[in-house]
Amino acid sequence: VSPADPIRRVEVRTVRLPLAHPVRTAAHLGTHLDHVLVRLTTAAGLTGLGHVFAFGARQAGALAALAADLGERVVAGLDPADPASIWTRIRDDLLFLGRRGAALMAASAVDTAVWDLHGKLEGRPLWAILGDGRDRFPCYASDRLWLGTEAGELEEEARALVDEGYRAIKLRVGSADLDRDERRLAAVREAAPGAEVMVDANHGWTVEQALEAAERFAPYDVHWFEEPVDPDDYAGTAAVARASRIPIAGGESWYSREENDRALALDAVSILMPDLARIGGVSPWRDAVATASERRVLVSPHLFPEVQLHLLGGVAAPGPLEYVPWNAGLFAEPPEPAGGVLTASDRPGLGLEFHPAVFPA
Ligand SMILES: [Mg+2]
Repeated sequence: VSPADPIRRVEVRTVRLPLAHPVRTAAHLGTHLDHVLVRLTTAAGLTGLGHVFAFGARQAGALAALAADLGERVVAGLDPADPASIWTRIRDDLLFLGRRGAALMAASAVDTAVWDLHGKLEGRPLWAILGDGRDRFPCYASDRLWLGTEAGELEEEARALVDEGYRAIKLRVGSADLDRDERRLAAVREAAPGAEVMVDANHGWTVEQALEAAERFAPYDVHWFEEPVDPDDYAGTAAVARASRIPIAGGESWYSREENDRALALDAVSILMPDLARIGGVSPWRDAVATASERRVLVSPHLFPEVQLHLLGGVAAPGPLEYVPWNAGLFAEPPEPAGGVLTASDRPGLGLEFHPAVFPA
């Protein structure tokens, strides 16, 4: 049976946008993001969009080339009424380059665009198709309190975030000097006494350092301790989790259900944080959180709030969304948090359109 409305056109663009607050973690440093935008158009003229980002134009160029190749060679001509069969073709094709890393990130932008088209064909928002009907979730502030910021300025930032309505805020830690991070945490805790405060070490520490940090941070009522050590060190993460009085979070650096399940089997994390891009898009995301859902482990998506907002209603124990405004400049009407809550639109699919300044129609 030939598709009623096959995918005909594949467009990929890269765009560099400045960050309102430069990123600095134990693993990242950047004043700009290089975004890769994918737009698929069907024979009847429906459009679906997806996006990923990189730190640097050359990485973005590589992702864009991979996405254009997948789109034109594998996905063009297929039927967006059936995203699962399109994903099967993408997944089969990925084996050559590998089902991890850049190839999977590029696939995520294509798969997300296919799902956006699917929602538009159905005339329903993705949250209504993929979740339990919830269209709004709490989010936490993740765009300030970076690793380069010292006590003093941190207190101002924490108070500003609470004034914006956030009830949960995340501090980057992972400094070589643990005394410094303890002072920074104490400052944030004091400036935002009513807020949930999370810390994220961005895998900057050894197991020994992370164990000491968990001990020293415990008195500050920390809501979770994220990526204490190298995420490939599952046993080390589990060792920190066993000793820590603060719940351990992680998952943004795991690329599959198998990797997530390996961590869950070791009780290495009590909050799982799938990243839309690194997990490969909407299709594999749903599979990747299945074990967490069975075990009622909290799922708190990493970045991509405007897309993962649509997926979170499909898990048994939704945690908060991570809000950063990094992608907001890409869209004409992006969802924006109000009172620490992010609400999806009622428009079909993702309910997003690229801003004409970054991707002309
Ligand atoms: Mg993180």
